[in-house]
Amino acid sequence: MEKSIFQRVIDREIPSSIAFENEDYIAIHDINPQAPVHLLVIPKKLSTRLDEIMDPLELGQLYAVAVEVAKAHLTDYMLVTNVGAGAGQTVFHTHIHILGGWETPPKVLGAH
Ligand code: 5GP
Repeated sequence: MEKSIFQRVIDREIPSSIAFENEDYIAIHDINPQAPVHLLVIPKKLSTRLDEIMDPLELGQLYAVAVEVAKAHLTDYMLVTNVGAGAGQTVFHTHIHILGGWETPPKVLGAH
């Protein structure tokens, strides 16, 4: 199977701006930011989409890392995961988007 773009980032085959890294996760700044702060939290262990992660502990750990990284950069933020092409997923290596830093929050979901 061809390496995903994020696998190539993890393997340092393509450059990225790294915000956080440990043995199991890496967080990078999105190359095409959709918010003043736009980070991607990526588990190093390959799964192609979030619902492929069957272990609740692994899922919880991924979210715990995303929250830690988000809190290091932002007070208020959105965590977004596109699961599948029909939901806008373009890179098939599981990742969570951290978005924030707006003066006025975007109208996505919720009370507007
Ligand atoms: P998805 O559409 O799969 O939910 O999100 C993929 C994200 O990866 C997009 O926001 C896109 O801008 C970002 N992205 C794609 N290629 C690269 C890259 O080479 N480097 C970085 N830092 N982000 C990338």
